[in-house]
Amino acid sequence: MDRWDTVILGAGAAGLMCAIEAGRRGKRVLILEKSAKPAEKIRISGGGRCNFTNLDCAPSRFLSNNPHFCKSALKRYTQRDFITRIEKAGIAYHEKTLGQLFCDGSSREIIDMLLADLADAGGQLKLETEPSPSSALKTAIVFARCATRSPAAPSLSPRAASRFPRWARPDSPTTSRDSSD
Ligand SMILES: Cc1cc2nc3c(=O)[nH]c(=O)nc-3n(C[C@H](O)[C@H](O)[C@H](O)COP(=O)(O)OP(=O)(O)OC[C@H]3O[C@@H](n4cnc5c(N)ncnc54)[C@H](O)[C@@H]3O)c2cc1C
Repeated sequence: MDRWDTVILGAGAAGLMCAIEAGRRGKRVLILEKSAKPAEKIRISGGGRCNFTNLDCAPSRFLSNNPHFCKSALKRYTQRDFITRIEKAGIAYHEKTLGQLFCDGSSREIIDMLLADLADAGGQLKLETEPSPSSALKTAIVFARCATRSPAAPSLSPRAASRFPRWARPDSPTTSRDSSD
């Protein structure tokens, strides 16, 4: 039986980035994607050329009820970090207007870069797979939850836990039975 530290639902931009970072931190990571292809939204983004960042990206450019919300994330990973990554991957790009950066070729290059980064980080991707409260997948999520409850990681708040199906919650009585499936 495969065991995973982290199971991510959805191979979009967010899921791929999370999986790559988790893999680079030594986690055994699996992405489950319900569609036949990953990152379909990236593919159609920017009219097929993916407006992948903006030179002037800054917290003040984000609309939010909490203007501080994005500050730490933007500080830890800047547009410059992503541009460096694009350049390292050899993806040609250009500035259109107002600091918007687009691929010269196709958004497909961004997807290929992310998939290559995922593979390099040891992450795995399963397409056409959607979780249901059954069998191995249930077990995988239980393991993922166990990992998030390791001493090194914060445990789920009751509010966060309530977003999981009942069978997947940390206090679920089905946990021990399912994890031995
Ligand atoms: C036409 C268009 C053009 C755009 N252009 C740009 C642009 O140029 N620049 C820009 O920055 N942004 C652009 N965006 C926005 C950008 O594409 C999205 O914000 C971004 O791709 C969202 O990424 P995500 O990972 O959050 O979500 P998604 O890309 O929606 O990824 C979620 C993934 O999860 C999968 N999924 C959902 N539920 C389940 C489940 N239960 N089990 C398994 N898998 C599941 C979905 O199939 C999907 O693959 C554009 C969007 C559109 C629609």
